[in-house]
Amino acid sequence: MDLQQHALVVPCPAQGHVTPLIKMAYNLASHGIKVTFANSEFIEAKILAAMSDEDKKQCPLRLVSYSDGLESHPEQRNGLGLIDCLKKVMPDNLEKLIKQINHSDNKEPITCVIADLAVGWTLEVASKMGLKKVAVWPAGPACLALPFHIPKLIETGVIDENGSPIGNELICLAEELPLWNSSELIWSSPANLTAQKFLFDCSLSVKQAAENASIVLCNTYYELDSFSCAMIPNILPIGPLPAIKNLNPSSGTFSSQDSTCLSWLDKQPSNSVIYVAFGSTTVFSQKQFNELALGLELSGQSFLWVVRSNIVNGSFPEYPNDFLERTTGRGKIVEWAPQEEILAHTSVSCFFSHCGWNSTMEGLSHGVPFLCWPYMWDQFYNKKYICDVWKIGLSLEYDEDGMISRHEIKTKIDNLFSGDGFKTNALKLMEDAKKSVNEGGSSYENFESLIKYLKA
Ligand code: UDP
Repeated sequence: MDLQQHALVVPCPAQGHVTPLIKMAYNLASHGIKVTFANSEFIEAKILAAMSDEDKKQCPLRLVSYSDGLESHPEQRNGLGLIDCLKKVMPDNLEKLIKQINHSDNKEPITCVIADLAVGWTLEVASKMGLKKVAVWPAGPACLALPFHIPKLIETGVIDENGSPIGNELICLAEELPLWNSSELIWSSPANLTAQKFLFDCSLSVKQAAENASIVLCNTYYELDSFSCAMIPNILPIGPLPAIKNLNPSSGTFSSQDSTCLSWLDKQPSNSVIYVAFGSTTVFSQKQFNELALGLELSGQSFLWVVRSNIVNGSFPEYPNDFLERTTGRGKIVEWAPQEEILAHTSVSCFFSHCGWNSTMEGLSHGVPFLCWPYMWDQFYNKKYICDVWKIGLSLEYDEDGMISRHEIKTKIDNLFSGDGFKTNALKLMEDAKKSVNEGGSSYENFESLIKYLKA
């Protein structure tokens, strides 16, 4: 009898990482691969709390957990301290976990580790134990091509040995790709300057782990960015990863989704509502939050706005005086939304987004134009694709006080709706994305070869 193939899937413990890996894991399970999904204990507790009993019953994955080592320093879970700690404790914890699983499940031992490149060192555990190694890159391929270019950037004097840009010149990885501004490099973004060396070392670890994997999965489709894909050895684009079918889409989210917004959307005219959501980690100052609220009001459009309880520097925001009263009826605010269902809704006209890669792929898959307000990491470079390469959105500009003003918000919303082509281009990309995941498409074929590799 054939050995049942059994994959251990290991995401980095953050929402934007767990979401795509859990989607991929559901897909693997529907192709007959047994999947064990490993979260940190802290994250697993959140996921279980947000899952309904029905969800838990139907979940085709076995959920297991390991300690992230931060039980006595929980405050570090929101920062880079998490990665630092995981690097120290995860290899041993995962090795123990695999041995435990194999012991309790000796007829179906783990045969493969599928690890997020953000915790790519876990693949060393797979090497040590003689298991198959697959990496997952949950961001865009261009941002993975970058670490592969680090040696060349150092050699040509564009950055120094610590990743610091030398001079202000724009960085060109390939003629066909948008230029990188030095402040867009993942490790030298202004929001993270104090951690530049640490993040530069993380980028080098990502490259090393990608080289250690037999396959590097990416949530994109080949035709969307063939030039970046061509720069990454063993890349297998399998996206856009589909929403989890036949199951409540809350599986894998850290907070309960407020579905009242769906019935609210049902009552709105077609193509009339701006969906405003900035992912799981973006924060604003109270002053900037007020400008955003007033900009939405000034636009005169209806809006569905995700306002997390920690969106203003980690705390609940205060709204401008009487804002909620003035926008009653045309504004709906929720703490966490079923984003993919919203983007698929015909009442949604555009996506006001921070341009996280998952949000980018989700908006693109549903043909929704973007209003872009990147906050950190890869989001600035993703914005360049949205606005300059795919031409499906507009970007907001800061004023001389470092603020995005209410007037800027209103103007860009007006321009997005009156501008030619944004919706047409977005619908064209949506069709291309569909083709790639349907039978015969590039992502479909790539997923089939992944299954073959896992079953071989
Ligand atoms: N998301 C959601 N509900 C919300 C806001 C976001 O389900 O109200 C999901 C969204 O669909 C996406 C993920 O959270 O899959 C955010 O990932 P992304 O890469 O866009 O941003 P990050 O949170 O990593 O900054």
